[in-house]
Amino acid sequence: MDKKRKKNFYTNIETIKNPDTYTVLVNKYRSLGKYAPNDLQSLSFNKKYQLREKAAIAFEKLVNIAKKDHVFIRPYSAYRSFKYQTKVYNAYVKKDGQDKADTYSARPGHSEHQTGLAVDVWTEGHENILEKDAKWLAENANKYGFIIRYTKEKQAITGYIAEPWHLRYVGQKIAKDVTNKNLSYDEYYELYIK
Ligand SMILES: [Zn+2]
Repeated sequence: MDKKRKKNFYTNIETIKNPDTYTVLVNKYRSLGKYAPNDLQSLSFNKKYQLREKAAIAFEKLVNIAKKDHVFIRPYSAYRSFKYQTKVYNAYVKKDGQDKADTYSARPGHSEHQTGLAVDVWTEGHENILEKDAKWLAENANKYGFIIRYTKEKQAITGYIAEPWHLRYVGQKIAKDVTNKNLSYDEYYELYIK
């Protein structure tokens, strides 16, 4: 166990030096500052949802493959700017207080959505993700380069409640490895990427 994780969340924060790498680690100890990616692409489902180039291509592939298994997913949140995350987070703090908001919403600069590599998905026709579809994603998303970034088992490490709808692109090889090893990306990054 890395000693850093024993520290309180949002302490000893470092600024990320490689925000443009597809394997970038963003968490409660690592901030993107006001970084914005320069290769965002609109998703075909709805132009307002954007991901970085490789993530966008992989996502379209994932959606199409899922359909063949009768899993109909669609994005409801993808890239979010620092400014937009500030609005989102502040609204949650106002509603639930900071301690609770911190368990499900990232502080500005700390959201994976700001990398342009994370996308939240819903089951088509629903305002959430059906359990069977979440299960399908947990088993199959890694084949297309995505990991389920926040799971119940890893809440103590990530600081976030389970988010079966939040997909993070890291590329096929790493996604498979993270999934097979059953590690949080925070753990995996420390062990194999850093
Ligand atoms: Zn998300």
